[in-house]
Amino acid sequence: MSYAITSRCAGVRDGACLDVCPIACIHDAGAQFVIHPDECIDCGACAVACPAQAIVEGHEAPGALAYARAALHLTP
Ligand code: SF4
Ligand code: SF4
Repeated sequence: MSYAITSRCAGVRDGACLDVCPIACIHDAGAQFVIHPDECIDCGACAVACPAQAIVEGHEAPGALAYARAALHLTP
């Protein structure tokens, strides 16, 4: 499982999560940022840093996981 960014990121997009991710698996997908679900190591640092509480564990937001896979052109 991985962490996932919900639509609460849109409109904030401050990049705070990028600064703390140890493996640089967060990407700008235009409307919002997304986490590469196959690379995320589940450290949770981004969730703590996000001022919008937009980052949750993936199992809590299957739609956000699917959005990330589509945005990164990954197989569903
Ligand atoms: S949980 Fe850790 S590895 Fe995964 S996206 Fe957030 S900071 Fe990066
Ligand atoms: S820290 Fe939160 S609001 Fe800021 S870019 Fe990352 S997910 Fe979006």
